[in-house]
Amino acid sequence: MIKFLPLGGACEIGANSYYLNISGVGIILDCGMHPQKIGISSLPNLELIKNLNVDYVLISHAHQDHLGALPYLVQKHPYIKIISTPQTRALAELTLHNSVTILKQQVTEEPNFKVYDHEEIDLLIRSIEYKSYNEAVYLSGYNQKTKPTVSASFYDAGHILGSAGILLEYNSKKIFYTGDINLNNQELLPGAILPNTKVDVLIMETTYGDTDSSTILSWKEESLRFAASINKIMNAGGSILIPVFSLGKMQEILALIWNLMKTGKLTEADIYTGGIANKISNVYDYNRYVVNRIDPDFEISSIPQKDLYEVDQPEKFFKNPSIVLAPSGMMIEGTASFNLARRWLKQSNSAIFTVGYMEEKTPGFVFSNSKKGDKIKLNEITDIEEVKCTIESFRFSSHSKREELVKIVERLKPEIVILVHGSLNAIDWIGNAVLKKFKGTKVFAATSGKEIIIN
Ligand SMILES: [Zn+2]
Repeated sequence: MIKFLPLGGACEIGANSYYLNISGVGIILDCGMHPQKIGISSLPNLELIKNLNVDYVLISHAHQDHLGALPYLVQKHPYIKIISTPQTRALAELTLHNSVTILKQQVTEEPNFKVYDHEEIDLLIRSIEYKSYNEAVYLSGYNQKTKPTVSASFYDAGHILGSAGILLEYNSKKIFYTGDINLNNQELLPGAILPNTKVDVLIMETTYGDTDSSTILSWKEESLRFAASINKIMNAGGSILIPVFSLGKMQEILALIWNLMKTGKLTEADIYTGGIANKISNVYDYNRYVVNRIDPDFEISSIPQKDLYEVDQPEKFFKNPSIVLAPSGMMIEGTASFNLARRWLKQSNSAIFTVGYMEEKTPGFVFSNSKKGDKIKLNEITDIEEVKCTIESFRFSSHSKREELVKIVERLKPEIVILVHGSLNAIDWIGNAVLKKFKGTKVFAATSGKEIIIN
């Protein structure tokens, strides 16, 4: 018997974490931290597994909303075995150490929430067992009398470096968890590779379930629109601020800008990057021959970049037309992109270009939905400000479009589909599309704390 219990990340994109019990072996898929919440409310509900077998945690990729809560899981279950791809392990080392610094600034400790320290992260990283794509690892439960053999293997998910879909096999049953999955090529990473088999259960993300795909252009078409808009601003002497996530989006957009410059589609200008993103870019470079890459010879470090954190006066960004790639992607308060955006607002010849998904209620959502001349209020503390700069939204997606998610169902032919990692509307759209197209398929919308039993 297989039990599936969502601990978080059901009906929202947040603390993604799902517990599976396969014939006594306790396996957790991902252990994320909600990026917009603080303290204990940002974690998956680990109370739900207090009295259950917990043997393994498999990590699909190194984004904070998929592994940020791992140190808390390890505090509660010190003997748990952690498994990821080698690239996810290398990236986790950077992002978890970085989040120690961020959490220490944000959180005044709560009774049940102690901010972890660098030493704990060092130990945790050392304990991660890593497996390359398509290399099976066998899992057996600690409390097991007869050893069932569950095998797990990672499939390239095309989302960020090291990202994986996870195939679990037990007896003749196959379960596939997509993690965050992208079937299309980006600038550096090619699209996902799905297992070449039928599965029984598909646990699938639904990020773009409520986004009309006609509003998303292909990467190539969007690149040209992006280049034309940047050129227009730079020709008028302005600079462009692009909020990006340090992991994934920064590397893809940086490579895109460079390729556009090299092919003469984009006017050459200073490019600013910095902070943890540069260390992450080095991990991308270091792994370029061992994972799927569009051009394995291309190194991100070969792109001339200036350090945005070394600029002492923000006015300098406006002296010459320049392109500034600054975290965070959703312009969360206190981050470089949030602080710089407030300067940008006042510059009538400059622009803020957003390039990815913006969660509602984030400053990035407010920015991406406003235009020159609007009056905006970013939070309770800031005054109403007039938007003097140009604001334009672009979509360079690292997730599959909703029709492509339905195609994954078509390819893997599951009897049961469990939808996770999306808004209620997103889950509704995908659920209805699957039910309409594949008669007899059972569809579940994962609800935190609500167990699904699979025979
Ligand atoms: Zn992700």
